[in-house]
Amino acid sequence: MIKINTNHIGDLPLVVDGTEDSAILELSSDAGLTPNGKIHYNLLATMTGMDLLVTGTVKLAVTAICGRCLEEFSMELSVKDVCHLYEKAEGQEINVSDDIREDLLLALPLVFKCSPDCKGICTGCGANLNTEKCSCGKKKKKKSEPEKPDDPSPWDALSALKF
Ligand SMILES: [Zn+2]
Ligand SMILES: [Zn+2]
Repeated sequence: MIKINTNHIGDLPLVVDGTEDSAILELSSDAGLTPNGKIHYNLLATMTGMDLLVTGTVKLAVTAICGRCLEEFSMELSVKDVCHLYEKAEGQEINVSDDIREDLLLALPLVFKCSPDCKGICTGCGANLNTEKCSCGKKKKKKSEPEKPDDPSPWDALSALKF
């Protein structure tokens, strides 16, 4: 838990930095995302009257699966504009974990991309177009089988059934 004891804040803002277990994110197994190590936070706690203002940055390295080419890749989630106000926090110890968790979850992109210009996968041959060349354009299409002179009629199927 990331806690800030307001009793430790003097006239100057208090630097609160450290690491936190990424388990607080409670990521589901189908999130397509695996944290690499711990959450790094670097916060500044300031008293404004009776209220506690917490600003700063939070970072977490993750391994994600690209939504286009389906390859795993590493990226860093970062929140550079953490800003939370806790009213009437004077003299208390404030747990900011939930808000930090939410900041990070909101920083998750809707679709992960290994790079802004990921070329994705060819829907024809399944090649990863970032590393392979698509081969479906080169191969000549197989000649489709010659059409049978007569389309089978549904009655043929019926008459083939033995009663
Ligand atoms: Zn990709
Ligand atoms: Zn292809």
